[in-house]
Amino acid sequence: MIREFEYLALKTVKEALSLLSQYKEEAKIIAGGQSLLVIMKQGLLATEYLIDIKGISALDYINYDEGKGLKIGALTIHRAIERSPIIQKHFRVLSEMEGNLASIQTRNWGTIGGNLCHGDPAGDPAPVFIVLNAKLKLASLGGERIISMEEFSKDYLEVALKPDEMLTEIQVPTPPPHTGIAYEKLTVMKGDIGIIGAAVSITLSPGDGICEDIQIALSNAASVPLRVREAESRLKGKVLNDDLLIEAGEIASTEAKPLSDVHGSAEYRREMVKVFVRRVATKALERARAE
Ligand SMILES: Cc1cc2nc3c(=O)[nH]c(=O)nc-3n(C[C@H](O)[C@H](O)[C@H](O)COP(=O)(O)OP(=O)(O)OC[C@H]3O[C@@H](n4cnc5c(N)ncnc54)[C@H](O)[C@@H]3O)c2cc1C
Repeated sequence: MIREFEYLALKTVKEALSLLSQYKEEAKIIAGGQSLLVIMKQGLLATEYLIDIKGISALDYINYDEGKGLKIGALTIHRAIERSPIIQKHFRVLSEMEGNLASIQTRNWGTIGGNLCHGDPAGDPAPVFIVLNAKLKLASLGGERIISMEEFSKDYLEVALKPDEMLTEIQVPTPPPHTGIAYEKLTVMKGDIGIIGAAVSITLSPGDGICEDIQIALSNAASVPLRVREAESRLKGKVLNDDLLIEAGEIASTEAKPLSDVHGSAEYRREMVKVFVRRVATKALERARAE
């Protein structure tokens, strides 16, 4: 049962930040409520003040400029990212990832900011934003700060937000030329939370096809979205082939720290990390070669 709280709905970032500054730990933000209400109903979270930011239309936008990159307002719903022509053209992996996130109903109400701030290591957007080198803009009455997506994740359902801060924007640089990016997750049914997932970004040097840069991040394979740097190191500076990608999958599975739950044991997840790193890296490589 949900404990009583005061509900405060507002329309501007300034109003939200003033309330957060006033109530700090006693307050909780609600955007779409798709994740928050679940844990409140389970009695895992109670708050004195619920600050509803869904009405702040100024944080609902998708802007792109080749030099400055992509900027997504924190209150943009998943469905808008999935269907955005700008994103489909310049950041196809984001649209693909969103198309497999939950049901259309959830995507039509849940926000990208809420997904990232919930801090679920099984979430799909975080590993994709990690391999895209995304940064997050966090605001408080005292000003703004920028943090990388990777640094933002602290632990299971824990992110680097201070009590008086809110996420306002996600910033994604334009990937360098000859870059291929892909994300896939293991599910029983389309749209399920992934049992594990892998995001891979590969940049090739144009002349010799050497892997100039690579980033691999996993979902649901640790208490945070996990960058697997040893697997990346095995591939960086090489001309990639299937044997190397198999090896990278094996290394990634030793870096993963998965938990067991009803959807799969830790051992099964480690095996699936091998499969998905190889599979998704193969797809990213094909895309990089076609760029
Ligand atoms: C049936 C179902 C299936 C789902 N399947 C998937 C899936 O396959 N993949 C996946 O990745 N996700 C999945 N989700 C999670 C879903 O994507 C998130 O619940 C949703 O995006 C959260 O957004 P929200 O706006 O509803 O956030 P809320 O639930 O309102 O908030 C979530 C958390 O973020 C905080 N918060 C929200 N916005 C901000 C902000 N701007 N600044 C600071 N803190 C903020 C809140 O205080 C709260 O702690 C699923 C959810 C449901 C209900």
